[in-house]
Amino acid sequence: MYPTLAAIHSRLDSSSPDEKATVIAVSKTFDSAAIHPVLASGHRDFGENRVQEAQHKWPALKEEFPHTTLHLIGPLQTNKVADACALFDVIHTVDREKLARALVTHAEKTGHCPDLLIQVNTGSEPQKAGILPEQASAFITLCTKELNLPVKGLMCIPPIDAEPAPHFAYLRQLAQDHGFAELSMGMSKDYMVAANLGATMIRVGTAVFGERHARA
Ligand SMILES: *Cc1c(COP(=O)(O)O)cnc(C)c1O
Repeated sequence: MYPTLAAIHSRLDSSSPDEKATVIAVSKTFDSAAIHPVLASGHRDFGENRVQEAQHKWPALKEEFPHTTLHLIGPLQTNKVADACALFDVIHTVDREKLARALVTHAEKTGHCPDLLIQVNTGSEPQKAGILPEQASAFITLCTKELNLPVKGLMCIPPIDAEPAPHFAYLRQLAQDHGFAELSMGMSKDYMVAANLGATMIRVGTAVFGERHARA
């Protein structure tokens, strides 16, 4: 196993060996040469936050490692829906009606839709993507009951300066209320907190690849 991922897995194991979260290695800003050894070591879940950047790196990597699961963890513009659905296996960032309807249109046209998660802006931060908490239940119902989208769970990014645990606990409760199995929460600094609050997917960049230099 890739050394930094082995360290993450052993921390997760020591805390809750029976309910292990999937570790998504967030490879944004890192080039194919940096990603390749992680794939070669056997890791199969990766996250990117920009469709265009992923399109440059991942078609070739996925051809070499066909069983890779690629996760879109950044905001999705409706004009990129077709590109995103063609490349990504899971989209974590469904957060508004216009995007949900664009995904339906694309799915009807192609017969295919990736697994979806709904991003909740748990801190109600104006600059941040995600459906606001007070609108979340109605939006979830729209996506699942009316639009029949394949929504598997919820995702959040707590405010940078906040204690993450209440945000994770809130998201877990919301997922439970709606019968969702998947919870995408926790990053390099707080993935243990998230794992202990029921995360089924943690999104870890820096702790796997080191500091990002190009951009956040
Ligand atoms: C970059 C990013 C991560 C990984 O952040 P690290 O702190 O490097 O682990 C996780 N989730 C999202 C949505 C990101 O954009």
